[in-house]
Amino acid sequence: MQRAGLLALLKKTFGYSSFRPLQEEIITDVLAGLDVFALLPTGGGKSLCFQLPALAQDGLTLVVSPLIALMKDQVEGLQASGVAATFLNSTLSADESRARFRGLYRGEYKLLYIAPERLMLPGFAERLPELNVRQVAIDEAHCISEWGHDFRPEYRQLAELRPHLPGVPFMALTATATQRVREDIVRLLALRDPRCYTASFNRPNLTYRILPKEKPSEQVVRWVKDRPEECGIIYCHSRKATESVAEKLRAGGISALPYHAGLDPVVRDKTQDKFLKDKVRVICATVAFGMGVHKPNVRFVLHFDLPKSIEGYYQETGRAGRDGLPSECVLLYSAADAIKQKTFIEEKTDPDEQRIARDQLQKMIQYAESSECRRETLLAYFGETHLAIPCGGCDNCLEPRERFDGTVAAQKFLSCIFRLRQASSFGVGMNHLVEVLTGAASEKVKRWGHDRLTTYGIGKEHSRTEWQSIGRELMRLGLCHQTVERMSTLELAPEGLAWLKSRQPLTLTRPMRSSTRTARPKIEGDIVCDETLFAQLRALRREMADERNVPPYIIFADVTLRHMAARQPSNEDDFAEIPGVGERKLRDFSGPFIEAIAKWRAQRPR
Ligand code: ADP
Ligand code: ZN
Repeated sequence: MQRAGLLALLKKTFGYSSFRPLQEEIITDVLAGLDVFALLPTGGGKSLCFQLPALAQDGLTLVVSPLIALMKDQVEGLQASGVAATFLNSTLSADESRARFRGLYRGEYKLLYIAPERLMLPGFAERLPELNVRQVAIDEAHCISEWGHDFRPEYRQLAELRPHLPGVPFMALTATATQRVREDIVRLLALRDPRCYTASFNRPNLTYRILPKEKPSEQVVRWVKDRPEECGIIYCHSRKATESVAEKLRAGGISALPYHAGLDPVVRDKTQDKFLKDKVRVICATVAFGMGVHKPNVRFVLHFDLPKSIEGYYQETGRAGRDGLPSECVLLYSAADAIKQKTFIEEKTDPDEQRIARDQLQKMIQYAESSECRRETLLAYFGETHLAIPCGGCDNCLEPRERFDGTVAAQKFLSCIFRLRQASSFGVGMNHLVEVLTGAASEKVKRWGHDRLTTYGIGKEHSRTEWQSIGRELMRLGLCHQTVERMSTLELAPEGLAWLKSRQPLTLTRPMRSSTRTARPKIEGDIVCDETLFAQLRALRREMADERNVPPYIIFADVTLRHMAARQPSNEDDFAEIPGVGERKLRDFSGPFIEAIAKWRAQRPR
């Protein structure tokens, strides 16, 4: 099919008038019968890469998908757009499975979503030639790799399908960026000379921020309250924390539920379903939550605790803003959290594992403490450079932290460590050091005679929190460090001693501010529209979705509603121009929306 034909099909079925980056190239290759490996970030539009070819040719497209909930969701979405799609998995009754099989033999479906374990059942592969399979798409292909985060042993057998499907192109899709996982996918799926496509991993509609973690539960409640209409995920390290944070949010009048691997699977599924259907606004989760969640309108991802690696952080934040609308990623950070995590790592027994974990944590801490562009730091981790700075969508670019001449402060801080070490046989922690600097008359200071040191009380010009922030920055600069034992102590690094002797000037940055209301980012994806109309359209969508028992985004995505509220179409022709409105949705859903818009326009005070 030629380009014009593909674009017409795209508009007719999905209501989009252009391709996202690489979609067109991938689709063209697939239709030419080539194997393809597509590495697109979350929200990059991977599904379309196999859905459009499925519609552009006859025969069946097999879509291998690891999660039952995801399959159902995707099939419902396709059906709402008028595409003949179905799925097979263990949730179906024998009768229902048989009925679907009959449909498959009769060639009634364009797409079949299937779980790998179902596909690999004895006898299934042998029947494939009768189903006129023209394309095999392996979604979430990183599941094949043990290095990935969601290893699925069943994925390993998928290469065995090939002999049963001669001449049928395979495509693998993932958002996992690490090199090791990429190599595993190509090798273990036995892709044939695949065309490899890698999109930029930059997510232009996401804003990245760090907030100093002070009173985390209160901060989280305030954060969510400041965003009264929005859905989000709060990631916590422990199951207990997910429950207590959800509890605090509920006490603050916010609908929130915990989600973790320790909950009854039935409860977990219900929770996920409520979230997808916008019946609960916030999920407090461990990292067990997310992979199956393709909810497009997650407006924020907040990390209550420090993630273990940049990779994990990127994947988790990636669940925000799949639909391309501006969304926020926030991490609550405290140096104490970093120390806690270091302690966990030191308890590991395998030295290799320990080394990797330490290295990953170190990079995460650098990300959190850096005053450079967050986006740049994240993408640099994946080997991407050449970003436009300031990015317009991170705290450091939006509200650059003030810099100041920190020479004297650093001299005081570092020489105080030095003097304390000289005076006592033991090291002291950050709190004690700051007490000495600010001349506090605490019991320990007196007991240990630290009020007689020459550095006692020499730092009254800064508050305790300021000194702590100065101390953290000096650590980040490598001039001093904290030991990793439970009672961590501050030590002067050789570089710190050298710097003290050199007497060179030093520039430091002011600490981060902890406001939860933040400057409006200057990022992509914003669609300016009347918010009251948008809210009304959303309420209407919700009613229609409830009637059909599907998530609201199956009817229309938030983006489509915002376009609708901005353009306010008054007839079907104008409605058809709204992005995300294909022929089927125009027919099925446009009436009530056109009516609601007309009513709103009539009532609006002029
Ligand atoms: P991924 O699987 O890569 O995370 P999806 O396939 O779920 O991404 O697509 C993310 C969102 O982008 C979906 O809401 C989808 O409808 C939308 N989308 C995909 N392709 C296009 C396009 N060409 N134009 C506009 N929106 C698109
Ligand atoms: Zn930035």
